Amino acid sequence: MGKIIAIANQKGGVGKTTTSINLSAGLAYLGKKILLVDFDPQGNATQGVGATRQSFVKSIYDVIMTEVEVKDAVKTMKIPPLDILPATIDLAGADLEMVEYKYGREKLLKNKLVAVKNDYDYIIIDCPPSLGLLNTNALTAADSVIIPVQCEYYALEGLTQLLSTIRLVQRLFNNKLMIEGVLLTMFDARTKLSVEVQQEVRRYFKERVYKTYIPRNVKLSEAPSRGATIFEYDVKSEGAKAYASLAKEVISYNAKEAKANEKG
Ligand code: ADP
Ligand code: MG
Repeated sequence: MGKIIAIANQKGGVGKTTTSINLSAGLAYLGKKILLVDFDPQGNATQGVGATRQSFVKSIYDVIMTEVEVKDAVKTMKIPPLDILPATIDLAGADLEMVEYKYGREKLLKNKLVAVKNDYDYIIIDCPPSLGLLNTNALTAADSVIIPVQCEYYALEGLTQLLSTIRLVQRLFNNKLMIEGVLLTMFDARTKLSVEVQQEVRRYFKERVYKTYIPRNVKLSEAPSRGATIFEYDVKSEGAKAYASLAKEVISYNAKEAKANEKG
């Protein structure tokens, strides 16, 4: 059974999309079967894995708002070796259209992903930078959530709001939703601030903070303009090493969890 992981933080620019792309690719290069769901109308994850607008017809909008199935909209990439469910700006309209629905509007994504859950080891959802219905759909569909936290001032401030949204979704729509992990991004070991934010986040989330942190690395910001993940763009970069390490950490955490579930 595949695991659905949402990469969420309502704050923009914290590294959600960079993490969605490069964690997906990192897992794929380790032999895992991956579906990356671009759930942000900006479509940055779609472009980031090299899926050009001309190369697909259906998108995530068609999947959640019409009878189109996931498998009819998925595009299989060769490099990186993963499937992408692409997003276009159409998705921005879905947020508004859904408001009109009386019933089940929180479960539109979940209802469609069910059909392909067994086809993948991990389904990674790149969430939009808001706490609207799209985000609720992602958290309702997900088994767990990875929260990227940028190492900067006020890093923890928005988290209170995100955590209360997670609790609300747990209570109303998805009582199995877990926090998969908290990921420190754009870490700069030379600044006191990065170190302080790290300590504060670790104090709060304890062992749920990944040992791997993502350093600030210019290669990570350059790769998307080439339609490449960090592994094709510069596999020797610090960014590539960090995301490879994160992928291993995610796999080993889930292997441990699966074992624990078998026992008890
Ligand atoms: P979000 O999806 O949360 O809005 P992005 O992943 O798009 O955030 O990142 C915001 C910007 O920061 C992008 O231009 C991205 O290329 C850049 N960026 C993300 N992570 C890093 C990093 N570790 N080092 C340097 N630049 C980064
Ligand atoms: Mg993004």
